[in-house]
Amino acid sequence: METINTASKTKIVATLGPSSNTPERIAPLIEAGVDVVRLNFSHGDLAQHEVTLSAVRSVCHDDVIVAVMGDLCGPKIRTSQIDPDGVMLEVGQEITIIPGLETGNAEAFGTNYDQFARDVKLRDRIFIDDGRIALHVVDITDGQVRCRVDIGGHLKSRKGINLPDSQLSTPSITERDWSFVDWAIENDLDYLALSFVRSAEDVLRLKEYIQKKESSIKVVSKIETPQAIGDLENIVKASDVVLVARGDLGVEMLLEEVPLLQKRITHLCRQHGKPVIVATEMLQSMITQPGPTRAEVSDVSNAVLDLADAVMLSGETAVGQYPVEAVEMMNRINRTTEQFLSHNEFINPPRFDASGGLALRAALIRTVGQVVEELGAVFVAVWTTSGISAQLLSKARIEVPILAMSDNDRICRQMCLQYGVIPVKRPTPKTVTEFAAVVNSILLMKKWATAGDLIVLLAGAPFTRSAAVDLLAIHRLPE
Ligand code: PEP
Repeated sequence: METINTASKTKIVATLGPSSNTPERIAPLIEAGVDVVRLNFSHGDLAQHEVTLSAVRSVCHDDVIVAVMGDLCGPKIRTSQIDPDGVMLEVGQEITIIPGLETGNAEAFGTNYDQFARDVKLRDRIFIDDGRIALHVVDITDGQVRCRVDIGGHLKSRKGINLPDSQLSTPSITERDWSFVDWAIENDLDYLALSFVRSAEDVLRLKEYIQKKESSIKVVSKIETPQAIGDLENIVKASDVVLVARGDLGVEMLLEEVPLLQKRITHLCRQHGKPVIVATEMLQSMITQPGPTRAEVSDVSNAVLDLADAVMLSGETAVGQYPVEAVEMMNRINRTTEQFLSHNEFINPPRFDASGGLALRAALIRTVGQVVEELGAVFVAVWTTSGISAQLLSKARIEVPILAMSDNDRICRQMCLQYGVIPVKRPTPKTVTEFAAVVNSILLMKKWATAGDLIVLLAGAPFTRSAAVDLLAIHRLPE
């Protein structure tokens, strides 16, 4: 079992796949520091994800808490089959895209998106295979799109197509996605990530559906399109969590803008008190190598310096040869950078937007920060019915770890994504004295604090009342 001394405050999201989808492979990943596992719905069917989910659940119990995030594929446009092993495209040559064509060659290829010819315009850019190949539209006739090649390369079957200049008429949540949404709700997943979000309405549509189904699964908005950047603040406000999806973002936007967008998105999330995940290619070379490059180490460290709540591994843990080593490496980078951050006096507490009814809690959290600093408290313990108080404490970057207690399994799992938060499941206490006694026993038993240490307690009375943290107590651990 991971201890507080070895776990980083920055949470680690690991994508599961063939390298990591059995109980024997998941347990060491959690041991190494994984807090959230991601099921990537772009690959595999529901039966396969069901097996992976059972594997995750089989290694979790009250003391090993991990959140599960399903990642909806969204309207991912792909090339058709290209025969025999793909074809070479040369700069300047022309090629035609014919929606529905099942097998392509050097003259023409198909796509799974039947509105393709309707949605693109003359001169729109078309990127294939993460931008390795670039085309632009020179003619649209009879539902066929003639293109000229700007960057040549090996055109292969079923590669992703990005259309950064086009307004897609397809909904952000496809028919296939909706079946995965239902499955995620039925199977009590904790987070649902939405790919290719274009506006706050996309997020609200999914949240409305989730609410109708009486589920409390939280929505993660993946920021990866120029349209999302255009509606960024509204998307952040509408989302429970935001994910900087640098893979597609780096194709849809200029690559050199991605680091700055990462800074803008993480900053905005902090202002709005929303957790943010930085993702994609963080330790990419560890898919095949036991160690990362210097640049990758720097990248993870910079995400922590940007105050990301979580950093994510994709291929490294899903298909890589060194999944556990990648998590261990990420954990070490996080912890080293966090030590530097703890001496950084420039992290000002954000002033959360109080219009959403958070005024009381925002004021309490500022007070917590002051008490921790002035009296040298070593822990904050919060009783939370919704997880939101823990989330705001986390976003305020209170200097000490946050012990967040709830009697609700799902709330505990969801708090796994919050920076510096240690979720613990316990039955609801009746009084503050009872709450303090539980805190004493956990901190002393785990040796996370010692007799005489000061702890800040936050709770609401009665303890069962939702969204009601309004009590702050300063508690000394008994001798
Ligand atoms: C990304 O594009 O960076 C991303 C995380 O999404 P996916 O892995 O679904 O492509």
